[in-house]
Amino acid sequence: MNATARRPRKVVIAGYGMAGARLAENIRARDPRGERLSVTVVGAERHAAYNRVLLSSVVAGTLPRDAVTLHPESWAAEHDVTLRVGATVRGIDTAARTVSVHDPGGGPTALDYDALVLAQGSSPWIPPVDGLVHEDGSLAPGVCAFRTLDDCEEIAGRARAGTPVAVLGGGLLGIEAARGLAGRGCRVTVVHPHSHVMERQLDRGAGDVLAGTLAGYGIEFRTGTTAARYVPGDGVKLDDGGYVPADLVVVSAGVRPETGLAASAGLAVDRGILVDDCMRTSDPRVHAIGDCAQHPGTPPGLVQPAWDQAGVLADLLTGADSAGRYRGTAAVTRLKASGVDLASFGDVGSEPDSPEAEVVCLNDPARGRYAKLVLRDDLVTGGVLLGVPDAAANVAHHYTHRTPAPADRLAFLLGRALPEEAVRAPSPASMPGSVTVCECNNVPKSGLVDAWRRGARSVAGLAEATRATTGCGSCTGLVRGIADWLESTE
Ligand SMILES: Cc1cc2nc3c(=O)[nH]c(=O)nc-3n(C[C@H](O)[C@H](O)[C@H](O)COP(=O)(O)OP(=O)(O)OC[C@H]3O[C@@H](n4cnc5c(N)ncnc54)[C@H](O)[C@@H]3O)c2cc1C
Repeated sequence: MNATARRPRKVVIAGYGMAGARLAENIRARDPRGERLSVTVVGAERHAAYNRVLLSSVVAGTLPRDAVTLHPESWAAEHDVTLRVGATVRGIDTAARTVSVHDPGGGPTALDYDALVLAQGSSPWIPPVDGLVHEDGSLAPGVCAFRTLDDCEEIAGRARAGTPVAVLGGGLLGIEAARGLAGRGCRVTVVHPHSHVMERQLDRGAGDVLAGTLAGYGIEFRTGTTAARYVPGDGVKLDDGGYVPADLVVVSAGVRPETGLAASAGLAVDRGILVDDCMRTSDPRVHAIGDCAQHPGTPPGLVQPAWDQAGVLADLLTGADSAGRYRGTAAVTRLKASGVDLASFGDVGSEPDSPEAEVVCLNDPARGRYAKLVLRDDLVTGGVLLGVPDAAANVAHHYTHRTPAPADRLAFLLGRALPEEAVRAPSPASMPGSVTVCECNNVPKSGLVDAWRRGARSVAGLAEATRATTGCGSCTGLVRGIADWLESTE
């Protein structure tokens, strides 16, 4: 047999974040001995990949930084992956099929590839506010972005009890940062240009209820206005003439997909790097996944699409399923803020008088509850569930799995129409094996039980074996309950 034909194809992954790390894992799950693919991952951050979704808990001080790491130090060697952390892909030569890598320790090198995967994520957008940024592009003292583990450590290092903090941007991340900092005893004001917070995920009613709940934790809101000027050591002047005292400014004003490298290599980009259902860019040997990719019909900036894309691309690159195609993701956004239970998905803008959709809505601001269900032909096409945790998991499950909603819509919306198996499953012991415990990673109870029997004897072990708890983290309590129950049966 021809020896050249047996050479593993070289895959280079630019970006060791949530998408790049997941792709490398998925490739090795399908090609454990590296017979089909050699894998090199180049990551610009100096750490092992970590769960970015959990960074709000690092800011809040409820999780130590080590708890968000996705891979132990030995992971790359154990899985035959060449890992270069703290190194950056600076250029792509699509004709020669090489990338140039800049490594501060070792200078520039070239790597050749058979397939290149761009998994570069996105970077924070810093609004053009006087005083936020120095001429060289660095942030002024006391100003932090909120994207990386290093950002979180800087924020946490500056946030003392009583510190006045301005959070610029009341989207999902701004709200999570604000709640975490309020929990540390900071005096937090959120400045948001829109009329209500989290306007991408919430309608006005839900936004107002959320702001009311957060006001109960001491957070102030300035909506419908923007920051005009930051004066270090003083605060932020607003364009409506207002003023917010601030020793720390956390900028959470949105993100922009990383497209510069792709664009300079001549690849087609729009808002993100354009990809088809095979995650191919305009050059068939170059792929893009995660936040930097733009796939039609996929919501930007969420981790579930990145993971789904990594699964499909691993199937295609390894040949495990050469018919695999990515068709989009029904993603659910969950706020991770202590004391607030909020899930939002799909179409949240339809109103009860909409002629095209059936809309059921309950607004109970006095108790911090707001629930909205949008249906079309009995299928859930959107929803906001704030302060109704019993309903949230079940309704979101119907949305992501496209299963018909129960006829009693109100009971469904209030969490009283639980699936039959859940009604019969008040404890981990009696819960049927088929019940999905971790929605983010689609892990059923039976998967956890199997992993336990194979030796994963702790929540951390179960997480490593099955990935349960490693998404939004909201199932951690349930996984702990299952682990406790399994331990008690031995
Ligand atoms: C605080 C916070 C909370 C979030 N919460 C949620 C949530 O609740 N739900 C949700 O769905 N999503 C959430 N997100 C978004 C989620 O984290 C992203 O969708 C996800 O991380 C995307 O994965 P990615 O790999 O595409 O990008 P990233 O995880 O950002 O990884 C990209 C990596 O590529 C590196 N890189 C960039 N350019 C290069 C280069 N040229 N060479 C080498 N490396 C490079 C970057 O440094 C980075 O490490 C949150 C994000 C943040 C910041």
